[in-house]
Amino acid sequence: MRFRQVHLDFHTSEAIPGIGSQFSRSQFQNMLRIGHVDSITVFSKCHHGWAYHPSEANTMHPHLTFDLLGEMISAAHEISVKTPVYLSAGLDEKLARRHPEWLCRDAEDRTRWARDFMTPGYHEFCFNTPYLDILLAQIHEVVSNYDADGIFLDIVGIRECRCQYCVAALREAGQDPRDKAAVAALGERTYLNYTRRVRGTVDAVKPGLPVFHNSGHQLRGRRDLAHVNSHLELESLPTGGWGYDHFPLSARYVQSLGMDYLGMTGKFHTSWANSAGISIQMRCASRRHSA
Ligand SMILES: [Zn+2]
Repeated sequence: MRFRQVHLDFHTSEAIPGIGSQFSRSQFQNMLRIGHVDSITVFSKCHHGWAYHPSEANTMHPHLTFDLLGEMISAAHEISVKTPVYLSAGLDEKLARRHPEWLCRDAEDRTRWARDFMTPGYHEFCFNTPYLDILLAQIHEVVSNYDADGIFLDIVGIRECRCQYCVAALREAGQDPRDKAAVAALGERTYLNYTRRVRGTVDAVKPGLPVFHNSGHQLRGRRDLAHVNSHLELESLPTGGWGYDHFPLSARYVQSLGMDYLGMTGKFHTSWANSAGISIQMRCASRRHSA
C-alpha cells in the first residue's frame, strides 16, 4: 500500500453544469506533487448514480463531455501516483427513482437514508435484488476498461431489509419476515453474497486487484467481515458525530487483524470531517501502521 493517499469523493447531481470543464492535467499533477500524494482514489460513479466516463453499464453525467476518469488515471500514472477507483454501491439516486422496489425497506416499508421520496436525500439499495447485477456490470466495466489500482465500494454493509425480494426469500425458506433474527441472518447472507460476487467479478479480469467495501466502522469481533476486504480504510469523521476517539480506537483494534490499513479523515467543502451531504469532499489518508 502507498503511504500518503487522497480520496477524492465527488458527488454531483445532474442539475450541476460544467462537470470537469476546467480540468487541467498539469494542475492535477502539480497538486499531487505539492501534496506529496502517492495514491489518489478517483471516481467512476457517484451517489447520484452518474458515471464520470463513457459507459455502457451506466450513464455518463449529462454535463460531462469527456472521459474524466480516464484523464485522471492517465495524469496520475504519468507521475507514478496510484489510482484506486471509487464506485458508489449502496446509493444510485437516478436508479432509485426508476426502481424503488429495489431499495432497502424497514418493517414500515420506509427507505434507508431518506425515509421516503418526499424527503430530500439519497435512498439505499438492497443487494438481494436485480440491482446487484447492474452494480457488478459497472464494476466489471471499470476493471476491464481502466487501469484501476483497486476498487473502493461505498455505502455497503449488513442491513436488515424487508423489501419484497427479501420477504419472498424468507418465505421460500419457510421463515417469517416478522422474525427479527431471520431478517438479520438474511442480511448477512445478502452482504456476503455481494462481497463474493464482487471478488469474482474483479478476479475474472484482474485477479487479486485490491477491493475495499466501505461500511464506515469496523465491527468488533467480526474478523470474518474485515477479511472480505483486501485491506482496510478506516474512515473517521471526528466532527461528523463520530468523535475524536473513533480513529485511535479503530486503528488499535485493526492492528490485531493482520491486515494492511490506512486512516482516512475528511475535509468537506464547507466543514471539517462533517458527514452532512455535500457535493464535493476530499479525504486525506495516510497509513499509520502495517500489521
Ligand atoms: Zn431487500
